Amino acid sequence: MREKLASLGLDLPLLPTTTVGSFPKPKEILDARQKFIAGKLKLADLRPLEEATTRFWIKTQEELGIDVLVDGEMYRGDMATYFAQNLDGFKISGLVRSYGNRYYRKPIITGKIKWRGPITVDWWKFAQSLTKKPVKGMVTGPYTMMDWSFNEHYPNRREACLDMARALHEEVKALAKAGAKIIQVDEPALSARPEELPEFAIEAMKIVTKGIDAYFITHICYGAFEFIYPKMLELPVDNFDLEMSNSELDLVELFKKHPFTNDISFGVVDVHSHVIEDVGLVEKRIHKALEVLKPEQLWIDPDCGLKTRTTEETIDKLKAIVQAVKEVRRDLT
Ligand SMILES: [Zn+2]
Repeated sequence: MREKLASLGLDLPLLPTTTVGSFPKPKEILDARQKFIAGKLKLADLRPLEEATTRFWIKTQEELGIDVLVDGEMYRGDMATYFAQNLDGFKISGLVRSYGNRYYRKPIITGKIKWRGPITVDWWKFAQSLTKKPVKGMVTGPYTMMDWSFNEHYPNRREACLDMARALHEEVKALAKAGAKIIQVDEPALSARPEELPEFAIEAMKIVTKGIDAYFITHICYGAFEFIYPKMLELPVDNFDLEMSNSELDLVELFKKHPFTNDISFGVVDVHSHVIEDVGLVEKRIHKALEVLKPEQLWIDPDCGLKTRTTEETIDKLKAIVQAVKEVRRDLT
């Protein structure tokens, strides 16, 4: 897909480095957000804090030498709830517990899902105005939005997912119009029910991306890949951002059986661990990737969003990635 990147005017080095999306929020934002939820703070008072931290993360990514940046998602509470709050057809529940200790307000679909105007475009523009490097546009995908919501309106999951896709298509269109050339559609839940991939998840992604001139990435969290691979390669995206490290790279074995035909953002550090991977280990993981992938297919990043790590851990993990990529680039040329 190097041709597509070039046609979009994106001149990226071999093995572009990036991150999945979220960065840790400082305590001031977490506290302010709690006050906002409790009705003790206005949204307008939250914004300057979120902007200041977005500036910090853009500058930090630049200083580290990351090639494709993210805004860090300082303005989001939960990745599904954030979009639901900004679309027609949703109500938000009280706190619901999931994934052990994660509490969030679950979206409830109570009417026809519709896009009522740009959701992430302002934030994307703000982040992109701070840097000359490309900043990814980011949306939570239709399948995940559907899977993580209660459905009280649609007759089935398929109908809910496809209408969600139509709404997100408008958001993606608005991002592309604003100038976003790389757009990531996050689908962490994609392997939740593998039979739904051919039934409607692929169709939903086709609706989201149709006719839009951008390089599309989808992030899928680690799951039952043996049931969705290689079928998932039919998703109409250029790049699959996958968690590779926390499973000891067992997906590489899958790629030996069925060659991986797209670009990949290959996760080389575990986001669930405090331990900072040393540069040698990250290099080894990249070389393992190169056993089954061409260098032109390969992007390098952490396994998943980094919001659960500390700021220091995040920076140290990214340093290890950038240093390892430098070494491997040298070996390749
Ligand atoms: Zn993930």
